[in-house]
Amino acid sequence: MTAGLYAARARMKAVLVERMGFGGQLLTYERVDNYPGFPEGVGAFGLSELISAQALRFGLQTRNADVLGLDVNGPVKTVRLADGTIQARTLVIASGASPHKLGIKGEIELTGRGVSYCAVCDAPFYRGQDVAVVGGGDTAVEEAIYLTKFANRVYLIHRRDKLRATPIICEKAFRNEKLQFVLSTIVTEVQGGDGGVESLVLQDRKTGGTSRLPVAGVFMFVGIRPNCDFLPPEIQRDECGFICTDKEMATSVPGVFAAGDVRVKALRQIVTAVGDGATAAFNAGKYVENNFH
Ligand code: NAP
Repeated sequence: MTAGLYAARARMKAVLVERMGFGGQLLTYERVDNYPGFPEGVGAFGLSELISAQALRFGLQTRNADVLGLDVNGPVKTVRLADGTIQARTLVIASGASPHKLGIKGEIELTGRGVSYCAVCDAPFYRGQDVAVVGGGDTAVEEAIYLTKFANRVYLIHRRDKLRATPIICEKAFRNEKLQFVLSTIVTEVQGGDGGVESLVLQDRKTGGTSRLPVAGVFMFVGIRPNCDFLPPEIQRDECGFICTDKEMATSVPGVFAAGDVRVKALRQIVTAVGDGATAAFNAGKYVENNFH
């Protein structure tokens, strides 16, 4: 959205292609506490609406579509959609990332019936019930805290004895009496039936012992993978699939830029995503100036 805002404000003829709602991963969170300018924090949906409204004010065009593929060789790039194509002199890829699957028995079968990847979407279903969160990063701990507003008890199950999440988030979690930490433990199976999730099978990594934990739902937050299925091989990526860029957000293909969680970077946050978006759009504009005028 920020790349679109900057491109439109620079008077480029820009179109933003989005398959869902504007905001991407932001829409899966409840509140944002670390975006500058909002001393009390800001609702994630509200922030997304503010940014998209700002971009639209500058005349950004939008198209609701799934990108099927890109043709990036040559001076004119083609974006292939289900219902047509878009041709452009430059592209900014800001397709973000999606939650990883844990890859255990029962996970796929019970997705949507107790296995979830979005607390904001599904937490209200678990009012007064016991649920589990798997993972130890910022997302897992923040979402576990959010779930305590609804659930009776939230088990945070992490494979190591130390959380990965940043200290300020952990401190808040440790103060929350509804949160119970199950450390050095892996989940090996999600069990349930037609009525949904009933329990998890846990393995203690120190003793090797297994146990059953009855829960009505389990939220998986074990990292992210880049949304790159539509990318051609010419665009260089790292071993995890994230797009490699230089500090101008340029990819290995001239005229193709990348911004946000989809690219290789150290800090994946909204504030760094908007910085990337501005830089990518600025350099995309320079690329057009240098090559077509
Ligand atoms: P993450 O930081 O990669 O953490 C993933 C967690 O899942 C880690 O604790 C990891 O364990 C665990 N994990 C990975 N594979 C696993 C497996 N197979 N079985 C069990 N556990 C597994 O991912 P994230 O929390 O989604 O965050 C993604 C990025 O967004 C990060 O850069 C994060 O800082 C950022 N973020 C920031 C905020 C914020 O600033 N408020 C909020 C959310 C996310 P190990 O620790 O053992 O590796």
